[in-house]
Amino acid sequence: MTAAALAYKFHRTKTSITLVESEQIGTVGVGEATLPHIRFFNQALGIDEVTFMRATNATFKLGIEFCDWGQIGDRYVHPFGDFGEPLQGVDFHHLWNQLRQLGLKTPLDEYSYPIVAAKSARFHHPDPDLSKIESTFGYAYQFDSSLYAKFLRTFAEKHGVTRIEGKIVEVDQNAETGHVETLRLESGQTIGGELFIDCSGFRGLLIEQSLKTGYQDWSEWLPCNRAVAVQSENVGTLLPYTRSTARTAGWQWRIPLQHRTGNGHVYCSHFISDDEARSQLLDGIEGALTTDPKQLYFMTGRRNQFWKKNVVAIGLSAGFLEPLESTSIHFIQEGITALLELFPDTAFATSDQEEYNERMGLNFERVRDFLLLHYVATERDDSEMWRHFRNLTLPESLQSKIEAWMHRGLVPSYEFSVFLPPSWIAVFMGQRKLPLAGDPRMGRIPLDDIRQYAENLHSSIRNSVDRAPDHLTFIQGTGSSSKTVPESL
Ligand SMILES: Cc1cc2nc3c(=O)[nH]c(=O)nc-3n(C[C@H](O)[C@H](O)[C@H](O)COP(=O)(O)OP(=O)(O)OC[C@H]3O[C@@H](n4cnc5c(N)ncnc54)[C@H](O)[C@@H]3O)c2cc1C
Repeated sequence: MTAAALAYKFHRTKTSITLVESEQIGTVGVGEATLPHIRFFNQALGIDEVTFMRATNATFKLGIEFCDWGQIGDRYVHPFGDFGEPLQGVDFHHLWNQLRQLGLKTPLDEYSYPIVAAKSARFHHPDPDLSKIESTFGYAYQFDSSLYAKFLRTFAEKHGVTRIEGKIVEVDQNAETGHVETLRLESGQTIGGELFIDCSGFRGLLIEQSLKTGYQDWSEWLPCNRAVAVQSENVGTLLPYTRSTARTAGWQWRIPLQHRTGNGHVYCSHFISDDEARSQLLDGIEGALTTDPKQLYFMTGRRNQFWKKNVVAIGLSAGFLEPLESTSIHFIQEGITALLELFPDTAFATSDQEEYNERMGLNFERVRDFLLLHYVATERDDSEMWRHFRNLTLPESLQSKIEAWMHRGLVPSYEFSVFLPPSWIAVFMGQRKLPLAGDPRMGRIPLDDIRQYAENLHSSIRNSVDRAPDHLTFIQGTGSSSKTVPESL
């Protein structure tokens, strides 16, 4: 992603970009679910959606369904879109909560267009007419990230990137400044450069092994430290959403692609053995397995500095938070955007680095808080892990956010955060954290008006979704099915 974006932006300038990758080392090989912002990344590079979807076996994603998080048996969807629309300035979740207290049985999810569409396995692009209910959502993709990397490699090479296959075995730094000067490959070849982007994965070849930046370990708040991943055959309807099911010592993902389903169990090794985690995963899979289970190890947290001297860490080398809300690829995109905005000259001003580090640090902290919310906004206490979260001291930033919500259903906006109020509302409401009071302005709206408004919204969403094409038909109809890929791609 980084090489492709830089190549596109600097095409036909004097900039020369070299990408070093090692097939011997390989990639982490997971990462299939994304956030809507990835569409803007592809668009900014002039990548056509149909070509991209065919090449990566992508499906559309309208949100994430969370099962068993508030209590065993609960289900809700975190949608890429709003719940209803405000009435006389009052956000819809307040109106719904008031009706609920008066006996309304319809769940909040049924007032969100993307949720109703997702659950009905239907999809279409958002209507450009913003007055229509069919415009009230965004969407992302579920795709094979190895194929995406391959696709972007070809794209990058077409835009002037020189790709070198080889293993870096030595990193030479300037004796005075500590700046990285050359990389030495196993073959003996050396590669010099002015700016180095460390995309070497968890190992942080330059940012950590050479520049000793240090890592902030966030396991205190997000203790899951392992995952086991496996692929299976598709079974049943092709769903336009990812599923996350809470387990006794972590959670399990299910990500449907065009040609297969990705499955994984993220767990905390203090609370469950690897064998037990693997068997919990395998027990919960619907289709026949198509790969052997793959074991992964990680420590949640972030580098102390993402940019140090002439090295910028992007991707897993910068840090990792568990994939509960599909945020890692998004962090890559944020890193690229910030780097392009603050692109340095060879003086490498400290102020640019500080600004970059500040922005990326906030991005990581905001996401950490949002992920942690899933574990603490719950009534579950049926295993050691859930009891651990009951007694946890929360980061101040999350504590104050929960207090503002409980007081009157308010979600103050964070700066440099990918998750906007509707995402927080989805998790709070979906996990039984109902506010103690509502927006005081609601008192001046006649109750009958609120009832009528909710009823109209509910039926217009239902009617409109009933007319929408189903997900698979839409993929095929737009020519995005990988089965139609010409040999040449
Ligand atoms: C369990 C799990 C689930 C995930 N799920 C999601 C998800 O659903 N959504 C999401 O957005 N993200 C997810 N991620 C994160 C996602 O997989 C990564 O962000 C993404 O794949 C990018 O990884 P990377 O390129 O930083 O590192 P890697 O994939 O590890 O790539 C590192 C690259 O550096 C090269 N390299 C390393 N050392 C050397 C060397 N010495 N010489 C030459 N080359 C070298 C390797 O060959 C490789 O090409 C998940 C991660 C994990 C662990």
